[in-house]
Amino acid sequence: MSISLNSELKQKENQRINEYINKVLSLVEKEVVTEEEANWITKETLDGFRDHVNPGFLSYRKTVTKDGQFAAVEWSDGGACFKDINGNEYIDCLGGFGIYNVGHRHPKVVKAVTDQLKRQALHSQDLLDPLRAMLAKILADITPGDLKYAFFTNSGTESVEAALKLAKMYSDRTTFIATARAFHGKSLGSLSGTAKGMFRKPFLPLIPGFRHVPFGDIDMMRKTFETCALVGEDVAAVILEPIQGEGGIILPPPNYLKQVRELCDEFGALLIFDEVQTGMGRTGKMFAAELFDVVPDILCLAKAFGGGVMPAGAIVAKEKVFESWFPNPFMHTTTFGGNPLACAAAIATISVLLEEKLPERALEVGEYFLKGLREVAKDHKDKVLEIRGQGLMIGIEFHKDEIGYEVSKGMFDRGVLVAGTLINSKTIRIEPSLTISYEEVDTVINTFKEVLSQIEN
Ligand SMILES: *Cc1c(COP(=O)(O)O)cnc(C)c1O
Repeated sequence: MSISLNSELKQKENQRINEYINKVLSLVEKEVVTEEEANWITKETLDGFRDHVNPGFLSYRKTVTKDGQFAAVEWSDGGACFKDINGNEYIDCLGGFGIYNVGHRHPKVVKAVTDQLKRQALHSQDLLDPLRAMLAKILADITPGDLKYAFFTNSGTESVEAALKLAKMYSDRTTFIATARAFHGKSLGSLSGTAKGMFRKPFLPLIPGFRHVPFGDIDMMRKTFETCALVGEDVAAVILEPIQGEGGIILPPPNYLKQVRELCDEFGALLIFDEVQTGMGRTGKMFAAELFDVVPDILCLAKAFGGGVMPAGAIVAKEKVFESWFPNPFMHTTTFGGNPLACAAAIATISVLLEEKLPERALEVGEYFLKGLREVAKDHKDKVLEIRGQGLMIGIEFHKDEIGYEVSKGMFDRGVLVAGTLINSKTIRIEPSLTISYEEVDTVINTFKEVLSQIEN
C-alpha cells in the first residue's frame, strides 16, 4: 500500500520535474522569446542562483553594476556583442576573459562543429580519432620552433596540469619557478603556480616545490636557480605567461623572456609558456612567444582555442620532452580532451585566424584602441595611472580599486562590458573579439570618456 502510494507520489514528482525540463528545452529552441518568457527566465535565473548555484554571485553582480542592472541575464550573442534576455546589446570587451578571439559564434566555427555533430560527437576512446591527428599536425605547423606533439584538454587549468606533469616526468625533478601575480588556474596543481594569496591560502599546502619570483626580475630568477641547484632541488621548469593577463596586463621588460630562456638552458630546466590568454592571435601574433622570439619547451593553450564555441585546450611540446609519454600514452589522460567537436572547433578557429588575418588585425586595431584610450586618459591623470597593452590585450590601471569599479559599472550601464582582473583589482581589462569593428572601438572609447568625466575621484 505505502509502496504504491510512494511510487505514485514519485511519479507525480517526476512528471512535475519533466514539465519544467520541457519548458526549459522549449525556450532553448526559440529564436526570440516573448516579454513574459523573458520575465520568467530572469526570475528562474535569480532564484536558481540564489537557491542552487551560489547566492554570492548575486551580491557580486550588485556590487559591479548599477541599481537593478545586476539582474542582467545573458541570452544570445554574435560578432563582437552579446544580448541580455531583454534584448539590450553589449559590446563585449571582456570577451569571456579572452575566449572570443574569432568573435561570438563565428559561422565557420559553428558550421564545423555542427557538421561534426551530425556525424559523431564524441570519440570511442579506443579507435584512432582522425581530427585529433589533424589538429596536432596543424598545431605543429603554426606553433613556433620545433614544438611538435600535442596533448588535448578541456580547459586552461588542465593544460597547465598536463604541462607540469610532463615537465616532472621528463626531468625527474620537482622544483618549479613561477612568477608573482601569475594566473595559471585553480586546480591544486595549477593553483600552485597561481600567485594570489587569497585563492591559495585555504588550500595550502599545494604541490611542494613551487618558488615564486617577481615577474620581470631576471636577477632574482638567476639567484633562485642558483640557490635551488645549491640545495639539490634542481628546477624542472619555469612556468610563466609571456604577458600576464589576470595580473593586470603586465608586459615583460625588454629581453626578459630571452634571458629566462637562457637561464633555463643553462640550468637544464624546461620553459613552459602559459599562453592560455595570450595565444590564438590576441597579442598581434598567433602566439606571444613569437613577439619575443622565444621558443618554449611546452606551450599551454585554451580559452580562444575552441573559437568561443567549444571548451578546448592543448599543450604542444618539443619531441625530446614529449617523448617521456611515448612508452605509455596513458600516463596522463582525459576522457573528453581532444574530442571531435572540440577538434573541429579548434581547426575552424585556426582557419578563421589565418584567413581573416586576425593576429595582424589585433595589432592594428590594438594600436588604434590604445591610442584612443590614452588620449581620453590625458585629461584624467588623477584617476588613470596607466594604460598599457599589446594587440587587443589592454589594461587600464587606476589609482584606486574604487575608480576601476565605478568605470566598469558606468560602462556596463552604457552597453560596454569590460573585465576586472582576478589578481589585481585596480586594473580593468579590454579583451574584445579580434573582429571588433573600428566603429565599435570608437563607441568604447567615447563611452570611456563619458564615464571618466562623470565619476568623482
Ligand atoms: C584563464 C587562464 C587559465 C585557466 O584557464 P581555465 O580554462 O579557466 O581553466 C590559465 N592560465 C591563464 C594564463 C589564464 O588566463
